[in-house]
Amino acid sequence: MEWSEELSSGLLRAAPDAILVIDGERIVLVNDRAEHMYGWPRSELVGQLVDVLLTDAGRAIRDERRRLFTESPVGSIGTVTTTARRRDGSEFPCESSTTLIETPQGRYAVAVVRDITERLRAEEEKERLRAEAHAHRSQRLESLGQLAGGIAHDFNNMLGVILNYASFVIEEAQAEAPDLAMIAADAQQVVRAGKRGTDLTHQLLAFARREVVRPQPVDLNELIAELRDLLRRTLGDRISLIFRPDPGLPMVTCDPGQIEQLLVNLALNARDAMPSGGSMVIDTGSLEDRVRLRICDSGHGMAADVVERAFEPFFTTKGSGEGTGLGLATVYGIATQAGGEVSITSEVGLGTTVTVLLPAGAAVLPQDVPSGVVATGGHGETLLVVEDEDALRDVAGRILTGAGYRVITAEGGAQALDLAARHDGEIDLLLSDVVMPGMLGKELADRLVVVRPGTRVLFMSGYAQPVLASQGTLEPGVALLEKPFTANDLLVAVRSRLDS
Ligand code: ADP
Ligand code: MG
Repeated sequence: MEWSEELSSGLLRAAPDAILVIDGERIVLVNDRAEHMYGWPRSELVGQLVDVLLTDAGRAIRDERRRLFTESPVGSIGTVTTTARRRDGSEFPCESSTTLIETPQGRYAVAVVRDITERLRAEEEKERLRAEAHAHRSQRLESLGQLAGGIAHDFNNMLGVILNYASFVIEEAQAEAPDLAMIAADAQQVVRAGKRGTDLTHQLLAFARREVVRPQPVDLNELIAELRDLLRRTLGDRISLIFRPDPGLPMVTCDPGQIEQLLVNLALNARDAMPSGGSMVIDTGSLEDRVRLRICDSGHGMAADVVERAFEPFFTTKGSGEGTGLGLATVYGIATQAGGEVSITSEVGLGTTVTVLLPAGAAVLPQDVPSGVVATGGHGETLLVVEDEDALRDVAGRILTGAGYRVITAEGGAQALDLAARHDGEIDLLLSDVVMPGMLGKELADRLVVVRPGTRVLFMSGYAQPVLASQGTLEPGVALLEKPFTANDLLVAVRSRLDS
């Protein structure tokens, strides 16, 4: 192909970057893209000093470029990242590569200039997203650390109480003349600390969405009406409670006990936010296929940074001993476990509104072991108790033996099957932990029932049924006793399983 005028002008037109030919001082040739980029018509641009396109940054390197123009051999003299000026005075970032050429008419510099506004913007956006993700991660880690630290601290205290009082009990019992009243009082302390530990794990489980919940169809209006007295007592005399139920409210499926806990936690926060009185308004409503529960107070409100962290476990602005920082974390756990969501809007000095949205609909769910019924003991039925934790196995064995059952204990599935094979009489019930090393409770039950079809099965676990079911360890609807349990819980569960 012959080089021609048409070819060179075609190449100039096709180039995606601005191309300027400069004789060292003045612009002698520009392409279409340069007209566009700098906002000058070609007719006006050609003949101008190159200075009209330079910004302060560009002028700063002009002398050096001039020196290169006269002293360098032909070829590239490099690429610089700088800024350029349009006709209207606005500036844009650019990358400019310059090449020196020698023609019969003389020496020229060919500058190829690329507008890098978009590229810089994309880089900045990428950097911003990266920083945001990083902040998010470290915030999560920080709150996890706070959570772990808080739990460790509280549990340590409780364990301290338990260990010390338990050793007092031992010392006193071994004394020459044991003081039974004192032993009982000290043992009470052990029980009390154990109960506080249980409350704490329940709160944590609710937050971690591992709590055993008993969902049922609930009319929120009715439930709140029933809770009014409790909430009034929580709020105290100086705060008025106003309830505005939406009469057409659909049912929801949730655990009423959890909604009670949610409302009490929010009422406690409202009370703390209104030390000199005010009002708390609860209203209900429906929003498409969801039910809205809104709790609004006229308290001191929260700053934006407090709103942002309010749901974090152990985040509190209250003095030590006044706040645990678990209130809203628990509210969050309860709402999300029920398939809903919760949000806060607040303004310093104006009050706070917490909005909970729950899916509408009344689902009928399988019931698990009834609780709170007065226990009746055993009549010599034989129970096979399988639990890998020694202390817990002993406790269960003692409670059940004391209530009139015959008890065989095993520390795992293999031992249980072995004992069962060697046992002559009936085994009326298998009471087994779900998650055990070696063999899971479900496998043990499946294998035992093959050889002893008459044996009933009751599982016990510290995990919630939905978790166990979703992990394939238990089928939904099986009988499950949640840990930790009291003697009464255990006896009721065993009796009702035997009688079912
Ligand atoms: P705690 O009440 O133990 O501090 P929460 O998780 O219940 O923990 O609340 C976390 C923080 O959120 C509180 O310390 C408080 O600063 C803020 N907060 C919560 N509810 C309200 C409210 N209704 N009004 C103002 N501030 C609130
Ligand atoms: Mg609170």
